[in-house]
Amino acid sequence: MKNTFPSPLCLALLLTIAAATRVALAVDYEVTNTAIGTPGGNLFDSEISVDYTKQVLADATSFIWTTFNQGNEGDHKNIQIINGLIESLDGVAYTAGIAIHVSAQYIANFQGDVKTEITGVLYHESTHVWQWDGKGQASSGLIEGVADYVRLMAGYEPLDGHWVKPGQGDRWDQGYDVTARFLDYCGGLDSGFVAKLNAKMKDGYSNDFFVELLGKTVDQLFSDYKAAYAG
Ligand SMILES: [Zn+2]
Repeated sequence: MKNTFPSPLCLALLLTIAAATRVALAVDYEVTNTAIGTPGGNLFDSEISVDYTKQVLADATSFIWTTFNQGNEGDHKNIQIINGLIESLDGVAYTAGIAIHVSAQYIANFQGDVKTEITGVLYHESTHVWQWDGKGQASSGLIEGVADYVRLMAGYEPLDGHWVKPGQGDRWDQGYDVTARFLDYCGGLDSGFVAKLNAKMKDGYSNDFFVELLGKTVDQLFSDYKAAYAG
């Protein structure tokens, strides 16, 4: 049968594409190198670049929305722009609101593949832009652990091997790599675990979230995790 109107399937496809395009256009990425003329600022331009960093920020946002199961507008925070700043500062990087600050000195002093390292750092910092923090009630250990979990899932675990191995660490909320490895274990029990945990953290935080999602206390889960890698 010939039909001049789009078929329902075709129409559904068009609407899907329109929705996906709207989401993709929703966030702008601006990157500024304020450290031009310093060793780290110059290395940033020659080895990493503004354009590459914009692309990483966009890729990281997509990856985070997928990891958090926040593919639809309304699921994630309402943010129109993310700023990346290369600047003179101590430490590695930090994020305040929509601004991701990366240390030019860290870039200058890093031994190894600095482009891949900064890519991993940008996945970690981008997670801070999008993740829920339990309205300030979640521990910094958990917040940092979720950010490193995203970095781990994206395949940007540091190449120099300074992260702990699975099963290492003393406390589940020790933070960073230790907590990321533990969350990875929890994700093995329920692949949607971190997305569900993050969703619950929109309105507050309680360790009971682990019981609600996985049926065990977080302390029990951590001892199960340690036991799974013992010996
Ligand atoms: Zn962090």
